[in-house]
Amino acid sequence: MRLVFMGPPGAGKGTQARAVAQRCGIPHVSSGDIFRAEIDNKTPLGLKIRSYLETGELVPDPITVEAVAGRLAAADCAAGWLLDGFPRTLGQAEALDRALAAGGDKLCAVVNLEVEPEIIVRRMGGRRSCPKCGRIYHVEFIRPRVQGACDVCGAALVARQDDKPDTVRERLATYHRQTAPLVEYYERQGLLVRVDGGGTPDEVRARLFEQLKAFVGR
Ligand code: ADP
Ligand code: ADP
Ligand code: ZN
Repeated sequence: MRLVFMGPPGAGKGTQARAVAQRCGIPHVSSGDIFRAEIDNKTPLGLKIRSYLETGELVPDPITVEAVAGRLAAADCAAGWLLDGFPRTLGQAEALDRALAAGGDKLCAVVNLEVEPEIIVRRMGGRRSCPKCGRIYHVEFIRPRVQGACDVCGAALVARQDDKPDTVRERLATYHRQTAPLVEYYERQGLLVRVDGGGTPDEVRARLFEQLKAFVGR
């Protein structure tokens, strides 16, 4: 199964993508997670892309496409994957289509998580994540059992640098300018699954599975 998760920053892509990937037994490939790991490890790629993430701009297409293609070439991705946060530009979407076509493959579905702007801003404002296992929490909506510590590994939770108000604004503008047009691109291909991302994570997940049924296995 080959799925793409789209939606504005803070919509809940990572939260839902993790659940779906786990249930379907496919790797969850998040371009944001790939980039943050490179930055944390101070690799040459990490040094090159740091400023883009800090300011909320998109990393240039050639760098992004290469990084994601590298991950998708790994053995565990052979039978399928769930892409979270990629593609984010028309150029990236076309590069993905070309790569898939070259292997005789195609996407099963593209989920667009739709959430109102006020809710998105609140979700990003309280986001915390585990630096060790990547699990995502929220200070108000999805609290860990022990404040500030991951339920799974006990590590101290961290806020993302780019979740501060200035950068959030920039990321939302970037989304509307460069990523929102992709909705139409995938709609034309008959791949788009619009999912209401409001409500609790369980409610969103139930909706998502229900709507995905019709697409999976095609
Ligand atoms: P969110 O889930 O809040 O939308 P991500 O973790 O997906 O955030 O992305 C964080 C940052 O990483 C983006 O603001 C951007 O700088 C960079 N990034 C992630 N995915 C891409 C992509 N497909 N193309 C370009 N830049 C990306
Ligand atoms: P994205 O990957 O789209 O940027 P995340 O999955 O990281 O979004 O979610 C952003 C923030 O909102 C996180 O703090 C997460 O815990 C929280 N969150 C996700 N889904 C919901 C939901 N349905 N209701 C309330 N908060 C949520
Ligand atoms: Zn953890």
